[in-house]
Amino acid sequence: MVKSNMAHIIDGKKIAETTRADITARVEAFKNENGFVPGLAVVIVGENPASKVYVRNKKLASEQAGMYSVVCEMPENTTQEELMAKLSQLKADEKIHGILVQLPLPKHLNESEVLRFIPPEKDVDAFHAENTGHIMIGDYHFLPCTPAGVMTMLKYENIDVAGKKCVVIGRSNIVGKPMAMLLLHADGTVTVCHSKTQNLAEIIRQADILVVAIGRAKFVTGDMVKPGAVVIDVGMNRDENGKLCGDCDFESCEKVAGAITPVPGGVGPMTITTLLENTLRAAELAVKNA
Ligand code: NAP
Repeated sequence: MVKSNMAHIIDGKKIAETTRADITARVEAFKNENGFVPGLAVVIVGENPASKVYVRNKKLASEQAGMYSVVCEMPENTTQEELMAKLSQLKADEKIHGILVQLPLPKHLNESEVLRFIPPEKDVDAFHAENTGHIMIGDYHFLPCTPAGVMTMLKYENIDVAGKKCVVIGRSNIVGKPMAMLLLHADGTVTVCHSKTQNLAEIIRQADILVVAIGRAKFVTGDMVKPGAVVIDVGMNRDENGKLCGDCDFESCEKVAGAITPVPGGVGPMTITTLLENTLRAAELAVKNA
């Protein structure tokens, strides 16, 4: 097969491994200096199978990095009061530096109240309004895991954002909006698109750096991509055969793009990597503020 006309594949697994090795070394140094290790608590309510896999992976990754890790599994019928009581306990626990509540929560629970209740200094998902505000200003301790993971990838690949036309498709609080903000901080010229955007394909075609986070299997096709563009596919979907796939049609995009992330093995591994970085940072903050 002739590979020369194909995009460079950005290997998220490899970048995550390299970055995690560095975090593991920093955790070891932190332990030697302070006599304890960073601790992460992940709270999961209910039986969502995808959430259970994510939580298991987060626990495993934090333990592999040498951190202390607990998973608090709560039943589907947990009340708001019971969940808040569990969070109060974790807030007061000195061994826990980072708290993460796995989303989505069952419908009867108030998600915004939960996210507001996690103290900003233990908010390793960076979803608290105070942390969101810090991200907007560009003065932050924690960055939201997926967008920060994308920025780490771009840096690792020596892809300079400054002055580039960046198009982000999706405007969720978790991915799209903070992604746009981080690209802006890196001096990109950023356009954010969403379900009401008109002439979407035309806007996509202008992108030097395209980040797609919409949750629609194989939505972006090669004919929409600018030749040589960097295509970052955040989507995690199942195709018609139940196979994991992204928001971009990899086969056609790969023929046009200059570089592209695969799904799986692209952005996914970087998300947990940022969580580890944030947990270590939370422990460093705790030492600093003691
Ligand atoms: P979300 O909250 O559902 O937001 C989707 C966004 O896409 C919305 O802003 C929506 O626009 C926009 N959108 C939907 N259909 C569109 C269309 N046809 N054209 C243009 N815009 C469209 O999703 P999310 O949480 O951001 O996640 C997006 C994807 O990333 C999902 O596949 C998710 O599984 C994946 N994800 C992956 C990771 C990872 O670690 N790899 C992490 C998080 C999420 P409106 O605002 O107008 O509705």
